[in-house]
Amino acid sequence: MQTLLQQNLQKVLQTIVKASETTNKQVTLVAVSKTKPVELIKEAYEGGQKHFGENYVNELIEKAPLLPNDISWHFIGHLQTNKVSTIMKIQNLEFIQSVDSLKLAQKIEKHCEKLGRNINIFVQIKLSEEESKTGAEIDEAKLIIQEIITKFKFIKLIGLMTIGPIGNKEIFQQLVDLAKKFENEFNLQPLNLSMGMSGDYLDAIKYGADYVRVGSAIFGERNVKQ
Ligand SMILES: *Cc1c(COP(=O)(O)O)cnc(C)c1O
Repeated sequence: MQTLLQQNLQKVLQTIVKASETTNKQVTLVAVSKTKPVELIKEAYEGGQKHFGENYVNELIEKAPLLPNDISWHFIGHLQTNKVSTIMKIQNLEFIQSVDSLKLAQKIEKHCEKLGRNINIFVQIKLSEEESKTGAEIDEAKLIIQEIITKFKFIKLIGLMTIGPIGNKEIFQQLVDLAKKFENEFNLQPLNLSMGMSGDYLDAIKYGADYVRVGSAIFGERNVKQ
């Protein structure tokens, strides 16, 4: 018997498969479990989910050790440079989606070198004018990419991420265009796009998302607004 959460998960997965038929992309679902207890994450894991996203360092370091170590963790929240060493201790943290400054990228690279490990990163781009939306301006993003491809050995640049206001599809197109521009300018392999949340992941996929970050549609509404 599937739990309600597992049924939600299946619905989201089916929507993803259907939507991605139009783009022929293999879309990865990142289940965003911020503020949700370990028991619910286990339930989603038992329903077959492997990629999970967390926004807060403290939450991630509390939960990760209590959960199976074949989970692929994604850090998707704002990351302060002084928290990098803490977060990098989690061995199955495989993606940092929210790299928004050169300083942060340098710090991550340094810690990877120290630990002899690699990590996949997305450069988070600020496209929305909303004050609360973090991310790198385009010029900063260029600096980060330039540095990664010319100097870094441990960080693997896999794509661009953005957080948009729900319903603003222009932002999806902007991220698509920007990725193309960077691919040409820096002669890169196709960049993966992480865009779309519970309210708009279907549209994001139609525009070409490779990773969608879905929380409340799987886990239910969060009590605290964040
Ligand atoms: C919370 C959050 C999500 C998921 O939001 P839902 O609307 O619950 O799907 C996705 N991405 C980021 C960066 C988030 O902070």
